[in-house]
Amino acid sequence: MLMIEVKNVTKRYGKFLANDSLLFTVRPGEISILAGPNGAGKSTIIKSIAGLLRFQGEILICGKKNKSLEAKRNLGYIPELPALYDMLTIWEHMEFIARAYSLENWKERAEELFERFELDDKKNKLGNELSKGMQQKVSICCGLLPAPRVLLFDEPLVGLDPHAIKELKTMLVEYKKEGRSILLSTHMLDSVAEFWDSANIMMNGKIAASRSRVEIEGTGEDLEKLFFDITESGRTNKGRVSE
Ligand code: ADP
Repeated sequence: MLMIEVKNVTKRYGKFLANDSLLFTVRPGEISILAGPNGAGKSTIIKSIAGLLRFQGEILICGKKNKSLEAKRNLGYIPELPALYDMLTIWEHMEFIARAYSLENWKERAEELFERFELDDKKNKLGNELSKGMQQKVSICCGLLPAPRVLLFDEPLVGLDPHAIKELKTMLVEYKKEGRSILLSTHMLDSVAEFWDSANIMMNGKIAASRSRVEIEGTGEDLEKLFFDITESGRTNKGRVSE
């Protein structure tokens, strides 16, 4: 079964075409990257998959419409900018997620996540008492606590310290081995070079190229070169407007 199916998804903000007929899938145990420069439309498609935006087309999560409850149970979304609750401690954030997802035996898992992200001595701090990077780590823990089958990360490595980057990369590979699927956006290909399985390169709201690691290894093509060939030549095509 496919874990994420994006079928001809088009998103307009007013007349501006942010996503133009996007079509791609993510399989179980796959780390899929959405690469592209700022403004390419990566966050928009991730937010649409997460069920936060209205769009044309169809998105399925584990075969179910993405806005259904069944789909949402299988989905974790870690936004680009952390949005914590000012009045909750970070441990209370874990409790809140545990209640929302009716999780059992979640405390041990929350402890482990906090240890791995070096948050264990911050449990009683309020969200707004933490640095930006620490808030980002709490936001990641919130997304990971329910151990969803599908994880969406919007630029997850930006703003994290080196330990957290290393830990998150290790976790992504662990999740992949458990058969979970990860869709991750980035404008820095070298940050994901070791672990991606499939890549969609976005430019001006469209998927300009799709490659799998196996394909690239077979042909000897260089993903970073392909990325720059596409993104440098597309820079003149600004201000796209839908008909
Ligand atoms: P990326 O994540 O690749 O940097 P985004 O999906 O955030 O790109 O944005 C794609 C384009 O859509 C950008 O040009 C951005 O300015 C525009 N955009 C994003 N959100 C909105 C919005 N709420 N209203 C209008 N335009 C938006």
